[in-house]
Amino acid sequence: MAKEFKRYLVTSALPYANGPVHIGHLAGVYIPSDIYTRYLRLKGCDVISVCGSDEHGVPITIKARKEGVSPQQIVDRYHELIRKSFEGLGMSFDIYSRTSSKTHAETASAFFRKLYDEGKFIEKTSMQYYDEEAQTFLADRYIVGTCPKCGNDRAYGDQCEKCGSTLSPDELIDPHSAVSGSVPVKRETKHWYLPLDQYEGFLREWILEGHREWKSNVYGQCKSWLDGGLQPRAVSRDLDWGIPVPVEGAEGKVLYVWFDAPIGYISATKDLTPDWEKYWKSEDTKMVHFIGKDNIVFHCIVFPSMLKAHGGYILPENVPANEFLNLEGDKISTSRNWAVWLHEYLEEFLGKEDVLRYVLCANAPETKDNDFTWKDFQARNNNELVAILGNFVNRALVLTKKYYDGRVPACGELTGYDRETIAEVAAVKASLEANIEHYRFREALKDAMNISRIGNKYLADTEPWKVVKTDPERVKTILNVALQITANTAIAIEPFMPFSSAKILKMLAVDKFGWERLGAMDLVPDGHAIGEPELLFEKIEDDVIQRQLDKLAATKAANQAAEAAQHVEPQKDTIQFDDFQKMDIRVSTILAAEKVAKTKKLLKLTVDTGIDKREIVSGIAEHFTPEELVGKQVLVLVNLAPRELKGILSKGMILMAEDASGKLRLLQPGDTTNNGAVVG
Ligand SMILES: [Zn+2]
Repeated sequence: MAKEFKRYLVTSALPYANGPVHIGHLAGVYIPSDIYTRYLRLKGCDVISVCGSDEHGVPITIKARKEGVSPQQIVDRYHELIRKSFEGLGMSFDIYSRTSSKTHAETASAFFRKLYDEGKFIEKTSMQYYDEEAQTFLADRYIVGTCPKCGNDRAYGDQCEKCGSTLSPDELIDPHSAVSGSVPVKRETKHWYLPLDQYEGFLREWILEGHREWKSNVYGQCKSWLDGGLQPRAVSRDLDWGIPVPVEGAEGKVLYVWFDAPIGYISATKDLTPDWEKYWKSEDTKMVHFIGKDNIVFHCIVFPSMLKAHGGYILPENVPANEFLNLEGDKISTSRNWAVWLHEYLEEFLGKEDVLRYVLCANAPETKDNDFTWKDFQARNNNELVAILGNFVNRALVLTKKYYDGRVPACGELTGYDRETIAEVAAVKASLEANIEHYRFREALKDAMNISRIGNKYLADTEPWKVVKTDPERVKTILNVALQITANTAIAIEPFMPFSSAKILKMLAVDKFGWERLGAMDLVPDGHAIGEPELLFEKIEDDVIQRQLDKLAATKAANQAAEAAQHVEPQKDTIQFDDFQKMDIRVSTILAAEKVAKTKKLLKLTVDTGIDKREIVSGIAEHFTPEELVGKQVLVLVNLAPRELKGILSKGMILMAEDASGKLRLLQPGDTTNNGAVVG
């Protein structure tokens, strides 16, 4: 028997205020959170939804330094951008706060101080990198060097963005400070740690025993953290941006952003209502954290341990974290600008907020990583929203307008088929509720859409536009039923597509219904005058999609060029013209190519150099197949001293260009020319 709760507290991961929000954030966190909250509100539950910008931490100070502005200017800019774009997409947070607020500084400080006073932290001194030139300790992010795994010379002390490896500063080859460029030294520094190992027993019992119902990806990650053994975790950092550690002798130290950010949920609630304690301190409250999978450890292990250490707070009842959404087959990346940004979408797809909400929910990465493609976006809009939902609503309203001058016709005697249809609509409610309450939003959306599917089929089967000529009385009943289904659709889709729901209600000229009315067949009364029908959704044409694909292609090309520019070899020593003149390079045609037996890399090529036909052994078998080489004109250094390779005398060298990624390309004359033509 599930526990009954009197109220709900819904939290959504605080977006980091150093960049705009993209579709990955939306699909992972904010759309599911908004669906859940809207559903509970429609049901008349006592629910609040809190969110806000996470405005502390090292990446913000790095960005500020890069742009030559203050961290405050960075967070002001992105807080405003994120807040506005959330609003534009219909995110219905009760409060969208920020961790730079006064309330938050007080709340987080007091939280720390209580744990400090009660001896819940341990103090440890450790050796950390220090920049003597800039006179500052360096967070891991501030140390750059060469990645030991992939050789990227711009890896950070915590991560290599090229190969994705997690690193520690000690692993970097040739580490230097990102602040001054100097070589950092190690210095002793003191920090406070939350001894997570002491909370292992509590966490095991609470999660592994008590919350077996959590999503398997979340439960599994918690289990593997716990099985791996928990370590004390630092709650302070040497940094000048953040909430100062509120104890003496802690100058230059701030609360580690992962200690302060989740407390942001509490501060946001305080800013929302003086009655905040009933949401945080009563066992009758169900708290649900919506987050992405990269935040599981903080919301399931760290924050609950903090709450437990503090005492007096409730713990989350569920943490329905999603996996990641990719874009056109590639990982979404802020630094590579590989994303669909919400604020840009809202500008470019005016009035299509619900289309994005729909597609991101229908395709949400609930159980595994998923892919967003613009073709799928177009197909779902055209084949589902336009063809099913929009089409049904439009037909019901337009026919009512046409036959009855917009007055809802009375329902006459129902046929067996009418009753079946009505029963089908009514049956949706239970399934839809179960799916939302179990955080299966994709399935829930299918249920919500199912109502218009049923309606669409009903009109196609009953054909009122034909029957009207023979049995006008029957058509009144059909359209009455169709209008009731239309109103039901408005209720069912509200959590998912609030703009379209409101539009349907406006066209029906009725007020918003409560959730309990879902399934009812008396939502629009006989004789009621409906409003003007307009299209709910428009078809999205190929050129609109192509523009988005072109935009992504341009981003990809820019990234590749930037990447290549980073890896251009320095110029070699100067040579004299005579040195160059010594090289005899000729246009040649590859006549035959075959792999050299028992080697991986070697190809034996027969080339016509214009002077002669000769054999060249080239180490390019991993880059080209023999078939793709035959017939190609290439440039050959023909007077290179012959060399024997695997028993074959190689006479010359094929010229190639190697790009930053190590990919080889043949150098070819721009037009076909005669073999033996001299290059120089
Ligand atoms: Zn790497």
